[in-house]
Amino acid sequence: MTGSPQRLQGRLALVTGASRGIGAAVARRFAAEGAHVILVARTVGGLEERDDEIRALGGSATLAPLDLRDFDKLDQMGASLYQRFGRLDVLVGNAGVLGALSPLGHVAPTLWGEVIDVNLTANWRLIRSLDPLLRRSEAGRAIFTTCAAGREALPYWGAYAASKAALETMVRIYAGEVARTPLKVNLVDPGAVATRLRAQGFPAEDRALLRQPEDVVEPFVALAAADCARNGEILRA
Ligand code: NAP
Repeated sequence: MTGSPQRLQGRLALVTGASRGIGAAVARRFAAEGAHVILVARTVGGLEERDDEIRALGGSATLAPLDLRDFDKLDQMGASLYQRFGRLDVLVGNAGVLGALSPLGHVAPTLWGEVIDVNLTANWRLIRSLDPLLRRSEAGRAIFTTCAAGREALPYWGAYAASKAALETMVRIYAGEVARTPLKVNLVDPGAVATRLRAQGFPAEDRALLRQPEDVVEPFVALAAADCARNGEILRA
């Protein structure tokens, strides 16, 4: 850990997609900034690696292996968090899947369903389940990871782009609904980052030319901090 003041000291943060990529980097940085981090993803090995890294930093984490498409278990996690902690200070809805790049008429219905479930519906279910916990925090913060594809209507990016466009609208609606409360709700657009998801979309790209997940975590920290005054915004990393 650095000698500089910790900006998330004592905060309790849940990060989805924490097994790798951007979510893993956000979880590490949050822990380094003094937060206790609840790590959510399906891959237990990835969560355990994050836990080891966070302990090595002197931080602490709780592992919460979960398929975000299992909505009943997602609700149970909310109830467990309520019983164990009684509040949540920061929700980072970051997990995402690309699906496949293909013309709309060629997208397999199962793939369409997975992309909408993970990128959109799971984030609504997280809001539904965790909003009461966020409101019990003195400075609740909800942050969701979006993508410019949702605003650009790129051909062949059908399910992914549609899911991100809907996510942005849903999150801005949530921000409007909490506008008169201490809760702040925002989005981060990380831009192009060297992760597995990015490699699926751009397999021939030179990853060395891209920013790494660690390079895009600062806006997440700023939006998670108790002194953040922003609400309903999209921050570009
Ligand atoms: P990534 O490395 O592929 O990570 C995706 C994460 O989502 C993994 O931790 C994965 O964990 C989790 N996830 C996927 N399906 C899940 C499910 N059903 N249940 C639980 N967790 C699930 O990709 P990334 O680039 O870091 O993506 C993170 C976010 O950034 C996404 O929302 C993406 O749209 C956004 N984004 C990325 C870029 C970029 O250039 N990389 C650009 C703009 C926006 P498990 O597989 O272990 O479950």
